[in-house]
Amino acid sequence: MSQFFRRWGVALMGGGLLLVLLILASSVPPTVFPGKTASAGPATPRAAASGATGTAPRKGSPTSETGLLAFDHALKQGRVRSAVLNLETRQLVWVESSGATRRTGVVDPAKTSQQLVARGVEVQVVAPSGFRTRDLLLGLAFLAPLLFLPLVLRASRRRSGGAQEGRWGIAEARELPETRFADVAGCDEAKQDLAETVSYLKDPDTFLAWGVRPPKGVLLFGPPGTGKTLLARAVAGEAGVPFFRAAGSDFVEMYVGVGASRVREIFQRARRHAPCMVFIDEIDAIGRARGASATGGNEERESTLNQLLVEMDGFSPSAGIVVMAATNRPDVLDPALTRPGRFDRRVMVDRPDAAGREAILGLHLRNKRTAPDLDLAELATFTTGFTGADLENACNEAALVAMRRGREHIGREEFSEAVERVVAGPERKSRRLSPQEKRVVAYHEVGHALVARLLPGGDPVKKVSIVPRGMGALGYTLQTPREDRFLSSRGELLNRICVLLGGRAAEDLFCGDVTTGAQNDLKRANGIARRMVTEFGMGEKLGLLTLAGADEGPLRFDQPGPGSAGPVAQLADSEVRDIVETCYGRVTELLSRHREAVERLTGELLNREVILGEDVDRVLAPEG
Ligand code: ADP
Ligand code: MG
Ligand code: ZN
Repeated sequence: MSQFFRRWGVALMGGGLLLVLLILASSVPPTVFPGKTASAGPATPRAAASGATGTAPRKGSPTSETGLLAFDHALKQGRVRSAVLNLETRQLVWVESSGATRRTGVVDPAKTSQQLVARGVEVQVVAPSGFRTRDLLLGLAFLAPLLFLPLVLRASRRRSGGAQEGRWGIAEARELPETRFADVAGCDEAKQDLAETVSYLKDPDTFLAWGVRPPKGVLLFGPPGTGKTLLARAVAGEAGVPFFRAAGSDFVEMYVGVGASRVREIFQRARRHAPCMVFIDEIDAIGRARGASATGGNEERESTLNQLLVEMDGFSPSAGIVVMAATNRPDVLDPALTRPGRFDRRVMVDRPDAAGREAILGLHLRNKRTAPDLDLAELATFTTGFTGADLENACNEAALVAMRRGREHIGREEFSEAVERVVAGPERKSRRLSPQEKRVVAYHEVGHALVARLLPGGDPVKKVSIVPRGMGALGYTLQTPREDRFLSSRGELLNRICVLLGGRAAEDLFCGDVTTGAQNDLKRANGIARRMVTEFGMGEKLGLLTLAGADEGPLRFDQPGPGSAGPVAQLADSEVRDIVETCYGRVTELLSRHREAVERLTGELLNREVILGEDVDRVLAPEG
């Protein structure tokens, strides 16, 4: 308790000090700074004019008060040489023909200036500038305790052991980022997606004039360290607008209502500085689906989330504010956040491919001493799976290694060692494949892609990648996403099973062995086959007998159907196996017929790590 008083004592003392200052200040007459309209004129009355309103009278310019009558008199006699009229104090300072400077009491500015002009006297008008030292001091005196408050609170938090920093950071969070798109390498797709946001922030009016719905909420998602924060900053930097940053965890406080008021505060600031960008880093800290969290502190998080939703709805799309958020867990976000009008644009920031890594390395080695023959493309090949942050880390380590060894530059050797360190380091979040593993993954993915491409009526292949991604997936084949379908024919389902089996079949055919990499594929293929047999009446032996209630709604095949027991179940099992084996036979036959295409595509994939649907078509084209 005594600590409390001591703490407040400090604040009060500070306040008191400034109060004394204030009293001193108000005993000095206020100063008026000459306004903009004042132009250089006769020196004496100017000096006198400012003297008249506050600063100590200048030496050698004695000013004497005169009544209005005396002034009128002098004017009529033509003894007024020049005059300065102060609009704020409504005082007139005038120079007599004798050279004496005089000052009147309060005059009617309009009338007096007319009189002066009518007599042909040069008048200078000093407009009020609206800025007074006294006001400033007054304001300061009132603000003083507030200025002390953060210090006091921070001190108290340090004492109580709270480790959060930047709790009041939001207040100073506005910045004009220097970062540009050029500082972000290897995520060209994301940059393209964000180009529209940049042009909107640059010139919101054009968007409005055309009636284009401007971007409002943009969600950046991807693994940690891939440059999401960097990108957000670069968008603001490119557009040249203020950037307000807060991290989701800033809002999560012990006291209910603090988070919500912080959200309110940050948006208030944003509205004042529009066009601008609000960036909420790690939004999953507050944006988790409501009711789905395991730990306490729910209520606070919910009220913060609600406030965020309210704020996002609260400004019109034309307000010139873009809210960006970043997360590596887009799946846990509350659906309310991703609804239209909120974070309805999603931009994926993925781990960089070989070309991307090369570019990032170039960026981070730019101002380091590198050997002239250091081949960035080669360095990129042995950093598969690294994120931008990992690469930056590796570049730094490489410089350290070179420095410690007393080398002249960073060579290949130093870099390799740095990579090993990053991989072995405690913060290793990325995986790196051995060349052997990489080869298997490449064949596997090409298997999927080719089967998908060769079977009639399949979804077109968009992208094949062997850049490890997220948890578990070592590579992936992306088929153009198709909306949920309500009906699937028997043929389509069989084709889907074939595509899933393509990976395994390719491993078997081309690598001479099979790996555990196909586990998920097999599970899904079996799931489809089982549901065909037990739910859709597509089996031959079981006929129209169903073993499980069919699900309602869109068909989904990512989960296997429920299991069953007994002789009928055995029959079903054997039928499922028949379907899967028949498909596997078909796939093996298909891939062996296109051996050459498989080899060529795998080669390209190993080289570039990502190939597109067009590449698959191109390789297949000569074969007809
Ligand atoms: P995230 O927010 O996705 O976790 P950051 O933006 O914080 O990642 O990235 C951390 C650091 O890693 C950046 O400051 C930068 O030095 C480096 N980095 C990450 N991605 C890139 C990239 N694409 N280009 C250049 N540097 C990058
Ligand atoms: Mg970040
Ligand atoms: Zn697979």
